[in-house]
Amino acid sequence: MFDAVIVGAGPAGLAAALTLGRAHRTVLLLDAGDGRNAPARAVHNFLTRDGTPTARLRELGREELTAYPAVRIRDETITGVRVLDEGGFHLDSSDGGTASARRLLLATGLADELPGPRGTGELWGRSAFHCPYCHGYECTGKPVAVIGAAPARVRLALQLSRFAADVALCTGGEPLDPASRAKLESNGVTVRCEAVARLEATGDRLDRIVFESGPPLDRDAVFVVNVPRQRSDLAAHLGCASFADGCVEVNEFGRTSVPGVYAAGDMARRATVPMPLAAVVTAAASGTVAGAVIDQDLLAADFDLPDPFAQAKG
Ligand SMILES: Cc1cc2nc3c(=O)[nH]c(=O)nc-3n(C[C@H](O)[C@H](O)[C@H](O)COP(=O)(O)OP(=O)(O)OC[C@H]3O[C@@H](n4cnc5c(N)ncnc54)[C@H](O)[C@@H]3O)c2cc1C
Repeated sequence: MFDAVIVGAGPAGLAAALTLGRAHRTVLLLDAGDGRNAPARAVHNFLTRDGTPTARLRELGREELTAYPAVRIRDETITGVRVLDEGGFHLDSSDGGTASARRLLLATGLADELPGPRGTGELWGRSAFHCPYCHGYECTGKPVAVIGAAPARVRLALQLSRFAADVALCTGGEPLDPASRAKLESNGVTVRCEAVARLEATGDRLDRIVFESGPPLDRDAVFVVNVPRQRSDLAAHLGCASFADGCVEVNEFGRTSVPGVYAAGDMARRATVPMPLAAVVTAAASGTVAGAVIDQDLLAADFDLPDPFAQAKG
């Protein structure tokens, strides 16, 4: 039985494995493959790693872990998990592998549903984006568009208008309230209200947005609506409390509502945070915290010590 098993070797899981490995805890890190940002060329907005190819960042994390003999990594998809009567957790993987551990950290991330327009999937992470902090800077001085009419889309168009060459808000056939339209237009943002037919591209480079009627709009990048979903159902299977948006509820130390089960990274948030703070550096930070708290949790159990984090509520 391992001290801890971590499901997911993205930034959250890798960071937790580093903390636990350095604490001489036996750790098994299990991973199904690409993380959420795999379609993107590079990771941005991560101090000292800005511009690192996405896959390379994960390789670097794995390379660092080889220095810690207590950490093992297996490339497996976990399909089942159960709480053991004697305490701890048992996991099953899709290729017949099993593992058991005293504590469980879920770091399985999110997957993005892309409701449209047609062509978005092929351009996702390359010239169709969702996050201005991940990809906004690369749009500096370029013609860009924002799809959607909701207040958050209007806000994003205004945000990008500060540094993009030319911003268009494409409502996709949705009406736009007059006050928003006036604010956008007075700040140089074009509004297009026709339904969007498709995105046209050369390879993964966006050329233009084609509408159901009216002329196409040449653009270098488009910010689309994404709908994040839990990538794995392990937390639901264990009965971990979650929010209406699907995020697993954790307290400030990464504890879920199920004793011994922790969660970190994009998949989890605290009640006081309205949305996941979805970024590589914040995922890694939450993994570091969860790793240290798991170590303290085991320390309390093994030496009959008080749990220093017992009072923390979500
Ligand atoms: C297109 C795009 C670009 C982005 N660019 C940036 C950027 O430039 N900068 C930035 O800070 N953030 C960026 N992000 C956000 C960033 O990708 C996430 O915040 C970050 O990856 C979250 O890390 P994580 O460890 O929680 O999850 P992930 O990185 O998604 O890793 C989760 C891991 O869990 C594994 N897993 C899932 N289910 C199972 C299972 N059942 N069994 C075993 N393993 C499993 C997966 O294989 C995966 O490796 C981007 C997001 C997107 C969508």
